[in-house]
This record gives sequence, C-alpha cells and structure tokens, in this order.
Amino acid sequence: MNLNFSQEEITFQNEVREFLDKELTTELVNTAKRTSAVFTEKDVAMEWQSKLANKGWLVPSWPEEYGGTDWNDTQKYIFSSECANAGAPNLIPMGLAMIGPLLLGKGTQEQKDYYIPRIINGEDYWCQGYSEPGAGSDLASLQCKAVREGDKYIINGTKIWTTHAHLANKIFCLVRTDSSGRKQEGITFLMMDMDQPGVKVEPILTMAQDHDFNQVVFTDAIALVKDRIGEENEGWAVAKYLLEFERGGGVGGSKSLSDIEFIKKLVDKISSQHKDTSFVDLYSTKINELEISAKAIQYTSLRILSSLRSGDSPGPESSMMKTLVTDLEQEISELTLEVIGYYGMPFQDTSFGTNEPAIGDEDYRSIAGKYQNLRATTIYGGSNEIQRNIMAKAVLGL
Ligand SMILES: Cc1cc2nc3c(=O)[nH]c(=O)nc-3n(C[C@H](O)[C@H](O)[C@H](O)COP(=O)(O)OP(=O)(O)OC[C@H]3O[C@@H](n4cnc5c(N)ncnc54)[C@H](O)[C@@H]3O)c2cc1C
Repeated sequence: MNLNFSQEEITFQNEVREFLDKELTTELVNTAKRTSAVFTEKDVAMEWQSKLANKGWLVPSWPEEYGGTDWNDTQKYIFSSECANAGAPNLIPMGLAMIGPLLLGKGTQEQKDYYIPRIINGEDYWCQGYSEPGAGSDLASLQCKAVREGDKYIINGTKIWTTHAHLANKIFCLVRTDSSGRKQEGITFLMMDMDQPGVKVEPILTMAQDHDFNQVVFTDAIALVKDRIGEENEGWAVAKYLLEFERGGGVGGSKSLSDIEFIKKLVDKISSQHKDTSFVDLYSTKINELEISAKAIQYTSLRILSSLRSGDSPGPESSMMKTLVTDLEQEISELTLEVIGYYGMPFQDTSFGTNEPAIGDEDYRSIAGKYQNLRATTIYGGSNEIQRNIMAKAVLGL
C-alpha cells in the first residue's frame, strides 16, 4: 500500500501552502493562539472566513454551485492538515457546519438561494437555539412555545447556553408547536432574526471568565412561516440531521496533531532551559500515545467524509467522531497543562487585545484557560455519555 502523496497532490499541497503564506498573517495566528475561549473571537474568525471565501475554499465539501470545491478526500485532508499546521483560526460552526449543510440538505430552493450566499459572505452570523433550562441531553423535552398566526409564528420561552447569541443576527431554534403527542412529536424547526424587540440576550461567563454563551429569552418574538425548515411538528428529524453535521462533518485529528506538536515544542524548550533531558523522556510515551490516537481519528474522519460525498449526512458514526475528538482534545489540554507545571496557576487574561505581559512565557498564557474551557467539549453538541448511548443503539444495535 502506498501512503505517499502523488505528484498532483504535492502540487496541490504547495498551492495550499502558498495561499497560507500569503493570507494567514502572523497576527491572525497569534490572536487565535492567545485566546482560551472555546470558540474563536468573531472578528478573527470572520477575517479568516472572508479570505477563504474569496479564494473559493471556505466550504470544500458543499456542492460547487453553492461555493464548494471539486476536491477529493485527499485534497480535503491536505487542506485541513495544512491549515491546522499553520495555526489557522477555527471557523465558527453555527453557519458553516450546522445551518448551512442543513439548508443544503433539507431547505427549500428559496431558503437556499437566500441564506447560503449570506452564510458564505458573513452577512448572517448564526447561533443555535436548541438547549433550554429543562432540556439539554433530553432535548425532546423542550418547552419553548410557538403559535402560528397567519404567515408568522409567535414564540415565547427560554433557550440557554446559546453560543455567540450576543454577536449573532440570526438564530435557528427548536420550538414546541404541539404538546398532545409523544415529546419528539410537535417540535418545529424555525429560523429567525435576533434583532427584534421580543428577543433578550443575557450573558453567562465560563469558569475561565470568557463570554462565549448566553441565555436567550423570547417574549412574543416573531419567526416567518417561510423560515421554517421541514413541516410543522416534524422538526425532530430536522434537528437530528443537523446534529450529525455538528458532531462530525469535517476532517478531525489535524488540529490535535498540531496541538501535540505544540506540546513537543514546550517540552523541548523547558528541557533546554533546565538543561535536563529526562524531562523529554518523561513525556515522550504520553505524547506518542496521543499522536497515535490523533492519526486514528484522521483516518476515521476521512472514511466519514467519503460517505458524505455521495450526498449522505454523516450518520450516527458522527457520534463516534465527536466522542473520540473531544476526549482527545481534553487529554491533550491536560498534558499541556501538566508540562508547564506551576506556570498554569496564575490567571492570565486572554481576552482580545489584552496588553498585559505574559507570566513566564507568551506560550503559557492561554493554556490553563483552554484546559478549563475544553471541559465543555464533552458536554456541548450532546454530551459524550449521550453519544455513547447513540452508538450503542444505532451503530452497534444493542
Ligand atoms: C460551551 C458550550 C456551548 C454550548 N452551546 C450551545 C448552543 O450554542 N446552543 C445550544 O442549544 N446548546 C448549547 N450548549 C448546550 C449543550 O448542548 C448541553 O449542555 C448539552 O446537551 C447537555 O445538556 P445539559 O447541560 O442540560 O446537561 P444534562 O442533560 O442535565 O446532563 C447532565 C449530565 O448527565 C448526563 N446524562 C444526562 N442524560 C443521560 C443519559 N440518558 N444517559 C447517560 N448520561 C446522561 C450527561 O451526560 C451530563 O454528564 C452548549 C454547551 C456548552 C458547554
């Protein structure tokens, strides 16, 4: 078996590298690296998004008529690995990895024609209104209510943990339109404006003091019937379709490999500062183990990507990807924190534009905050316990 790239693939890799050399500025890389928040700051993510969109490389897996590429799986892998190696900021997923693929798969022609270009050019910035104070893992228990009046729905209720709701102009929501049947029935999927009198956004800070998410309260908020995806009362199937993309629609593992490279650099730096090579020996087995897991994830995600090409959604295997990727991210952040020892202890502000000098070393600044915030990855998008339940039922047939 030949695992080397062909000449054509090497040419493509060089083209990607040239683009990254030109467009991915040191400032973008450093700002993305400095933050400890789970999601990239909006300004940074949108600057990078616009550069990728101009090049036509923002949504490689989408159909070409909606801005996608004709890349094969190896090219997608090369692109995502090169971006991760170069330290490109993560893009914000709510538009590009959630509502976008959902619209392409289940939206009306009118919805696609209107919303898809606005997602790509950044005119619309989306947030996700699924969870409620009494409905997280048990999402189908949601109570936020919508009542139809002519060509509108009137919405009352509360959503919680709504990432970037304070920055978004659009929200997609699950609402209850009928309470008479099973809880999975009577749910409807709606898109609506955030900028309207019936929507109030209340901030919630993470334990690392970042403002990522919010509580959103609807009081007679309005959504148009034409902004419903799927039929009324049949939103549960729509919601699950979107979650498959949220949990595993891209090439995983590349970012982890680049984070592992960062640990190696830290270990080398600290060992040479202390003139103690035993420090390298101490960590090499742990680092190798993480690297093997990251590579395994890469191959698994490529397998899922090839099924996507035939027009499928990622399927319940996306639960496997979500669990593997997030468990690994947490292990990596734990080892990174362990490596820097007591330099992880001081609170180092990582907010955008901070000009306080770092304590110890600039590289240490965001490590403790990242470690704390990454605890969230095994919770959001459906907790990993829930993913294991899905795998047991839908993949293993238990
Ligand atoms: C950083 C972050 C960002 C988020 N962003 C968004 C967003 O933008 N939009 C949005 O709608 N939501 C968002 N969420 C919410 C997220 O989807 C929920 O937190 C998640 O679904 C879990 O729900 P919960 O918090 O109510 O916990 P609970 O459902 O109360 O679960 C508590 C614990 O019990 C376990 N548990 C529950 N039921 C079972 C079961 N049946 N079997 C085994 N274990 C079980 C869970 O795994 C968990 O450990 C975000 C969450 C975080 C942390």
